[in-house]
Amino acid sequence: MNPEPQDPRLLALVEGVVRIADGDLSTRIPVTGPRDEVAAVITGINLMADDLQAIYQELEERVESRTAMLRQAQIELERMALTDPLTQLANRTALNRALDHELAEAERGELPPALLVMDLNSFKGINDTLGHGAGDTVLQVTARRLVETVRDGDTVARLGGDEFAVMLPKSNAAHARGVAKRILRALGESIDIGDVRIVCGTSIGLRVAEPGHTVDELVMEADTAMYAAKAEQRSTVRVFEPALLYARRLQGLMITELREAIRTNQLVLYFQPVVELQSGRIEGAEALVRWNHPERGLLMPDQFIPLAEDTGIIIDLGYWVLKEAMRQLREWEDLPGVCEDFSMRVNISTTELQSLELIEHVREVLAETGIAASKLIIELTESMALSGSDVDKYSLTGLRRLGVRLEIDDFGTGYSSISYLRSLPVNVVKIDRSLIEGLGSDEGERVFVAAVLQLIHACGMEAVAEGIETAEQAAELTRLGCTSGQGYYFGRPVPPEEFAQLLRRG
Ligand code: C2E
Ligand code: MG
Ligand code: MG
Repeated sequence: MNPEPQDPRLLALVEGVVRIADGDLSTRIPVTGPRDEVAAVITGINLMADDLQAIYQELEERVESRTAMLRQAQIELERMALTDPLTQLANRTALNRALDHELAEAERGELPPALLVMDLNSFKGINDTLGHGAGDTVLQVTARRLVETVRDGDTVARLGGDEFAVMLPKSNAAHARGVAKRILRALGESIDIGDVRIVCGTSIGLRVAEPGHTVDELVMEADTAMYAAKAEQRSTVRVFEPALLYARRLQGLMITELREAIRTNQLVLYFQPVVELQSGRIEGAEALVRWNHPERGLLMPDQFIPLAEDTGIIIDLGYWVLKEAMRQLREWEDLPGVCEDFSMRVNISTTELQSLELIEHVREVLAETGIAASKLIIELTESMALSGSDVDKYSLTGLRRLGVRLEIDDFGTGYSSISYLRSLPVNVVKIDRSLIEGLGSDEGERVFVAAVLQLIHACGMEAVAEGIETAEQAAELTRLGCTSGQGYYFGRPVPPEEFAQLLRRG
């Protein structure tokens, strides 16, 4: 019995299925012969292959587009990791990479890179006075000006805060200095913020790389030169020199010494009388700190207060000043001839105002000494009172609640208006020395001070004038209705024993 002859389509069917199963989705089995079940199965398999192929293709397209998106995201992430979000400049990481590359080039015999590190001189003041929005604008304008000032191949970076850097590849001292000068000029232009025009100079440190320099060394040395430039207190460029490293180490030493000085009572308070202008009666004192340095002699506040502020030491220093001033006041209160409402003025700095400990410290010291809160006048500089941050407002309000009086020091040196001051919980305004200087000789100045005094009084605040050096200035101020004053004319800041003598003499 002959087996039934096999349908040749079955063989094609099996082969086709095997190929499809192997992944060849373009395989189609020819539909030939009678339209029977075999033909139906073949058509079914072909349809399945169609579907499979479509699904597979779609999948591939999807994978491809996802991969492209991932690649894009990765590029964006990398860009972000190397970019400062506020200014879109390179960040520190990007700068370091560029420096690394250029130092390697220099090793191969190319010209070395030069690094300029700079920091804006009055940025902190602007941020504090005009707010962070204004600060951001200043940083963005600075970034744009830097980019416009340098060449395409140079790297402009923001290192953080108000610190910027420019890397000039294949440079030399003369070229780098030229660029630095151009930057000084560009950043010396004024910036308009609302209706306030500000000028924010810059201090630049310059270092051209030398053979063997690492990135860290180069950055540190440019930075050191910048600190030296900053110390000159005007817009300027300093080129790195090894002696500067020594100065910087000294500063480091000074930080340690200052901490020690507070613990070991090397700080001393000097007191300057504040007088009632009409009568000349001493109505109070301002406590001014000095540092009796074992080797360097008596140091003035401008020689160590900025350092104390930068390093946070000011918190402990301020606490010491407060305690010591209140202890002294307690002692003097009982001297015969000292007026009933004799007050003590203590200066505090921004950092202290922003530390939430301040109110606690004041409350504690007042409680311990038993001094009436109204006899303590806390002096804040104009810019500080104006930072407008919630912490500041909280501190100021808290101090006012304790019954302490608040005074704006150095009024007339910042950007504030008296109407703004009125919105702060402030009782007294101290008119800065720079406004008093011209009194007695300059008619315009007299009219100006008269107007300032009127405004202060109209706002319900008291006025004190500082820096009175001549009898004419004192007389003029009295005529203008200013009741209190302070200055060398009445008495310089003196040690406590001398001040006590002044008090005894009345
Ligand atoms: P300030 O609070 O405005 O103090 C007035 C400064 O002007 C004092 O300088 C004082 O000696 C000086 N002065 C007073 N009368 C006259 C005058 O008639 N003519 C001139 N040309 N100057 C006069 P000093 O003691 O060097 O203090 C400088 C600044 O240091 C102070 O300015 C204050 O802002 C800060 N300071 C002083 N002690 C402390 C402190 O304990 N804590 C804080 N945070 N800052 C302090
Ligand atoms: Mg003061
Ligand atoms: Mg002052």
